[in-house]
Amino acid sequence: MGKRILSGMRPTGSLHIGHLSVIQNWVRLQDEYNCFFTIVDWHALTTGYQDKLDMKNLIREIAVDWLSVGLDPVKSAIFVQSHVKEHAELHLLFSMFTPLSWLERVPTYKDQINQLAEDGKDLHTYGFLGYPLLQAADILLYKADAVPVGEDQIPHIELCREVGRRFNHLYGKLFPEPQALIGKIPLLPGVDGRKMSKSYNNAISLTASPEEINTRVKQMITDPQRIRKDDPGHPEVCIVHQFHKIYSPDVAGIEEECRQGKIGCVACKRYLAEVIENVLAPFRERRRLWEDRVDEVLEEGAAKARQAASETMREVRGLIGV
Ligand code: SF4
Repeated sequence: MGKRILSGMRPTGSLHIGHLSVIQNWVRLQDEYNCFFTIVDWHALTTGYQDKLDMKNLIREIAVDWLSVGLDPVKSAIFVQSHVKEHAELHLLFSMFTPLSWLERVPTYKDQINQLAEDGKDLHTYGFLGYPLLQAADILLYKADAVPVGEDQIPHIELCREVGRRFNHLYGKLFPEPQALIGKIPLLPGVDGRKMSKSYNNAISLTASPEEINTRVKQMITDPQRIRKDDPGHPEVCIVHQFHKIYSPDVAGIEEECRQGKIGCVACKRYLAEVIENVLAPFRERRRLWEDRVDEVLEEGAAKARQAASETMREVRGLIGV
């Protein structure tokens, strides 16, 4: 058995360009690891239980985005968390021996309760407290060796390791200690400089048309000190430049021209819009091919995942004696 990776995302519907580097990182990992990529719909309910989410469509859209960027259902298991019931069973069994204090001290717990209270969400629920434990079950169910995550998720991986260790100590050695694979994922701001998010209406969707890309790039905030076209610019304060740094082949040249006042912001934005269009156009093409096949892909992915999950659960039940 090759080394395994588990990673997932909540079904938020169609993704934006800020998610792209995460998925491109997954695409690379597919050649090195045995990968399980899951759309975690139960996790979405831990904060969105009041929202009457159109889960079916949200799941399809994110799955098609993954596939269009290059996740490959032949190499990886691509599936929906709730289609593999073993996630819930392992979560339940873990909840029997996980001290409450471990969950209460996860840094995101209190932060998110306060943050989402501002949006009128009451997260003083059993499900929300337990969501890092559900995440531990997601990971350990596949005996994952590594989990690609952002730095903010490290405490969750530590909790997962602690839970696995406690299980191994109580019932017998079964789970490996998964490592956090911290990718260098560049953080892209929204066009208004805030965090990129669909809810702020400041994101470039992966499905954006050339016209939509143009509109968004035109909205990007540039160097406020630059009044005339030939004023020297400060690319370090400019949102357009942050995108050039990731996507443009000649970022040094643009930076130089900006600093010397040789390129105007209108031309610079036009060039960025072209570069982004070149990045997104192939995904748009592939998206059409996957739209008809996505349900089939998710079914096959769930079958693959279930096979691995049921083997682990057989061992878990045997060791606990249920
Ligand atoms: S020329 Fe480009 S990098 Fe310089 S301030 Fe204008 S938009 Fe930003």
